[in-house]
Amino acid sequence: MAKTFSGGIHPPECKKQTEDKPFIHFPISERLVCLMSQHIGIPAKPIVKKDDKVKRGQLIGEAPGIVSCAIHAPTSGTVVAVEPVVHPLGRKMDAVIIQPDGEDAWLEDLGKSRGKIKKLTAQEILKIIQEAGIAGMGGATFPSHVKLSPPKDKVIDTLVINGVECEPYLTCDHRLMLDFAEEIIKGTRLIQAILGVKEIHIGIEGNKPDAFAKLQEAASKEETKDIHVHLLKVKYPQGAEKQLIKAVLNRDVPAGGLPMDIGVVVHNVMTTYYIYRAVYFQEPMTERYLTITGDGVENPQNLCVRIGTPISKILEYARLKPGSKKIILGGPMMGIAQYSTDVPVTKGTSGILVLQDVADMEFENCIRCGACVDHCPMKLVPSELSITLQRGRVDLAEQYHLMDCMECGVCSYVCPAKRPIVHFVKLGKAQIMKQRKAKGAK
Ligand code: SF4
Ligand code: SF4
Repeated sequence: MAKTFSGGIHPPECKKQTEDKPFIHFPISERLVCLMSQHIGIPAKPIVKKDDKVKRGQLIGEAPGIVSCAIHAPTSGTVVAVEPVVHPLGRKMDAVIIQPDGEDAWLEDLGKSRGKIKKLTAQEILKIIQEAGIAGMGGATFPSHVKLSPPKDKVIDTLVINGVECEPYLTCDHRLMLDFAEEIIKGTRLIQAILGVKEIHIGIEGNKPDAFAKLQEAASKEETKDIHVHLLKVKYPQGAEKQLIKAVLNRDVPAGGLPMDIGVVVHNVMTTYYIYRAVYFQEPMTERYLTITGDGVENPQNLCVRIGTPISKILEYARLKPGSKKIILGGPMMGIAQYSTDVPVTKGTSGILVLQDVADMEFENCIRCGACVDHCPMKLVPSELSITLQRGRVDLAEQYHLMDCMECGVCSYVCPAKRPIVHFVKLGKAQIMKQRKAKGAK
């Protein structure tokens, strides 16, 4: 039987629209909007000003702390503004806006082969990754160099590479594994060199047997046979870190804990691929692969897009159908609905999903059916979370382990009363964070 975790759901996969479509390089837009916050942590600080000339890969936003990421120019051109713009999360945040010069010229040696990779030390590889501004590209956008620097008291023995892509509709990780299996293995070796781990596991969902075969073939060419590729049960959220670790290693991450607490570090396949590019080709993050899809576009595709490309341009290319009702960045389960098409592609934009039909937002009282409890992959009681949060009892919700909820959306999906449980959870968590910040400030 295919490996998996307990709980979860199997929503319609909806991947047929794009799973056979190879990547197309999207043309560079006439305006690239580079947000200073494209990662979890402190936003980068702009270090360029209006009228400055920049080259591709040039640092334009400096990371002001460890838990932050540097931002680089996605192409060569002129800075036309440094100003707040609408962020995919809804509020306005600082951005450097670049008008491309059409030359797409890299800064000095960037974009060229580095050579002598074997001579690099673990510390040097880590520094390259940090300077390249790589953030987790599976959607979480946690700075990769932080994940690769566990505290000294955490002994890491296993690396897990996440090729699951369990969100319905999205297929860019799938396509990446087909096109760049050997590069992903090379990136995996770089991460192994930093962490010093002996065991490596790659998890892929059962609906991508071709990607599984490609990675197995690439791993089998390696001298050391320490890379194990697993075909996992097709189930959502199989790609969530804790669920992936359970399926692949049968280890449990403790409540409130992190994979590093049980000796594991997880990296997404696309992050691994860009680590390879940063180290082998001296490339900071200036582009990413994504899927534009859904029944609201006539021309769904897998694309390679420069960071900062306005999503309006991609929607224009994919031919937005009239009457489309919802635009989501990411997948339907964990993605974020957008109210503006002015927002730009960021390091975390795994997909643009356009839907024609959306369910009405009316919800009813909980009927205590228990479906959400049966399916919650974190073994929480979502019904109680939603009821206590609806009543404003954040204190009680915290006792029901609110902060352990990973906002996967499984409970809302199965709820016959259509209760917006994740919405309540997000508001509750924001309130708790506010309270904690206020306490810390005293
Ligand atoms: S959103 Fe939270 S409460 Fe709901 S199923 Fe996922 S982890 Fe459980
Ligand atoms: S699935 Fe909905 S109705 Fe059923 S127990 Fe959970 S919150 Fe209540």
